[in-house]
Amino acid sequence: MQSININNAITQKVFLPATNNNVEVYLQREDLIHPFISGNKYYKLKYNLEKAKKENKETILTFGGAYSNHIYAVSAAAKLFGFKSIGIIRGEEYKPLNPTLQFAVDNGMTLYYLDRKSYRNRTDKNFREDIAKQFGDVYILPEGGTNELALKGTGEILQNIKTDFDYLCVPVGSGGTLAGLITGLNNGKKVIGFSSLKDGKYLSAMIRELISNSSIRKFDNWKINHDYHFGGFAKISRELIEFVNCFKKNNNIQLDLIYNGKMIYGINDMISKKYFPSNSRIVAIHTGGLQGLAGMKSKIEKLYKSSYSPFK
Ligand SMILES: *Cc1c(COP(=O)(O)O)cnc(C)c1O
Repeated sequence: MQSININNAITQKVFLPATNNNVEVYLQREDLIHPFISGNKYYKLKYNLEKAKKENKETILTFGGAYSNHIYAVSAAAKLFGFKSIGIIRGEEYKPLNPTLQFAVDNGMTLYYLDRKSYRNRTDKNFREDIAKQFGDVYILPEGGTNELALKGTGEILQNIKTDFDYLCVPVGSGGTLAGLITGLNNGKKVIGFSSLKDGKYLSAMIRELISNSSIRKFDNWKINHDYHFGGFAKISRELIEFVNCFKKNNNIQLDLIYNGKMIYGINDMISKKYFPSNSRIVAIHTGGLQGLAGMKSKIEKLYKSSYSPFK
């Protein structure tokens, strides 16, 4: 498998439909570092995989939903760095496998399915003991890959940004990427995370906790915006799809619909509402996630079909 190339992560000026107050937007193209281990996921895995090597673990075990970018990236990273991998998937097994899980299996990942109720216990001590009993001495990565080592890795994204800026924007799922950027930035520039979750109000406290575990400094230069989740995680609308298509036409850059499309939509909307002062420069991190588009196909088709249907 092709190796990671962080030099591919260019900092690229982009055009948005809302162009108020001479605000400039740059996209930090972390989606380009690898075809499969793209965006933030590589940085979250980097020091975890190093630790796993040091501890002589042969197998990486992790958790995720059936369309998870994390499962997809871990399967590829495990293969690239010489580990076996196990994916514990939330919910039932469906055959044929969706493109995300088929890719994981093709990379050698062994999948196990866990009903939603048991899945909720995945961080409990008993559950961890059961894993050790069944799978032996494996390296366990939490769902989404967020832990202290992930923060250390995602902070390194900052070294790739080749322009000065006033605002740093990033999409938020489990919050590890945002937390790593906050602690890595260390200079008071403003950081805005865009929540992909409908009920993401708990995120701020969790991120504060993650930060306090890995830095003695306090940071108050960041916040999470909750206005652009479009109804919840992986929920989409025609407006969002059309915005992402228009962005692609204007900039020749594909955004995913779960994270980056929503963030850029939000930035555009905030520019039109004059949230950013004149002459501000924004850098938004493109965290990748394009594999998720394949799994969205039927959802998109349904959306268009149902809204054009005359039989409502
Ligand atoms: C996982 C993921 C995120 C969210 O990262 P967190 O560190 O969990 O907040 C954002 N964008 C993409 C494309 C992802 O795959």
